[in-house]
This record gives sequence, C-alpha cells and structure tokens, in this order.
Amino acid sequence: MPVFVGIGANLGDPVAQVFDALARLGRDLPETRLSGRSRLYRNPPMGPRDQPDYVNAVARLETRLEPRALLHRLQATEVACGRRRDGTRWGPRLLDLDLLLFGGEVIDEPGLRVPHPGIAERDFVLLPLLELAPGLMIPGHGPIAALCRGMPGTALQAIPEEARA
Ligand code: ADP
Ligand code: MG
Repeated sequence: MPVFVGIGANLGDPVAQVFDALARLGRDLPETRLSGRSRLYRNPPMGPRDQPDYVNAVARLETRLEPRALLHRLQATEVACGRRRDGTRWGPRLLDLDLLLFGGEVIDEPGLRVPHPGIAERDFVLLPLLELAPGLMIPGHGPIAALCRGMPGTALQAIPEEARA
C-alpha cells in the first residue's frame, strides 16, 4: 500500500531543502523505499511578500513500518534536515513533513490523523498528488481528480527541473 508524504519548506534554500528531504526519505528510513515523487511546486505567499515562497512536493513511499513509527521517523528527519544550530539554540524549522495518506487507512488518534487534516483543501498537496497518482482515492474525500476539479484557482507553479542547480 503506497504511503504519501507531503514536503514543504520556506526558509533557507527551499528547493535544496526539499531535494535533501527526498534524498533522506529514500536513504534513511528503515524498511522503506522511495517509489516516486512529484515535481516541486512554488507557492507564492499572499499579501505582503515578507517571507520567501513555499516550495512543496509529495513523495510516495513503500514501507513496512507502522503509521506511528513512520511519523516518528518523519519527525526525526525534520530535525535532521530542517533544523540548524544557531549558537546554543535550535534555529527555526526549515522543513515540514506531513503523513498525508497511509494506503487506504483512516487513523484518528491523538497526534496522528490520516488522511492528514486539510488534505482536501490544500492546492499544494492536491496538485502534486494528482501528478503522482491520478487514480488515487482519498478516504472520506473521494477521487483526487474530483477534488482538484473542485479547487478554486491556484497560484501554484511547477518548478522546471532543468532550472534546478
Ligand atoms: P503543521 O500543521 O504546520 O504541519 P507541525 O508539523 O508542527 O505543524 O504539526 C505536527 C503535529 O501534528 C505533530 O504533533 C503531529 O503529531 C501532528 N499530526 C497529526 N497528524 C499528523 C500527520 N498525518 N502528519 C504529520 N503530523 C501529524
Ligand atoms: Mg507537519
């Protein structure tokens, strides 16, 4: 059963953060294989441009880990990849990893909800999911294609891969 993980970054060099996160997901998680990824999408902030664009992508994993064990690994990856030492303090988080879908499972426990709450409203999750798995069914929400059709306009822009450093 495929697992989908949402990746987001908006500090530092967000494109590099997302590629680093993808590399770590493919390399550092036990009993887990990275089996696909979407393109990276740039999500311009609304209103005053006082913060950098978000960059988002979705990864597909095959895993034998239990959902909660996988969540803990994702959180450890956020720390390993996304936080930097700033003198004696931990700097801001550079990376967000969300467990979007775990096969067809529905989980509603303290600290772990799957499908991820908000999955059906976020263009930066829906568009990469559609690209990666156009036939996907989201438990409780229906087909990914219908969710994308029902979406209001989006400012999301796919980042051309050849443009990457
Ligand atoms: P954001 O809502 O911006 O992603 P955080 O990543 O800091 O904020 O929130 C993580 C919290 O959400 C954690 O405490 C985690 O236990 C909880 N959580 C619940 N369901 C999920 C999920 N499916 N994926 C990731 N975190 C989840
Ligand atoms: Mg999160």
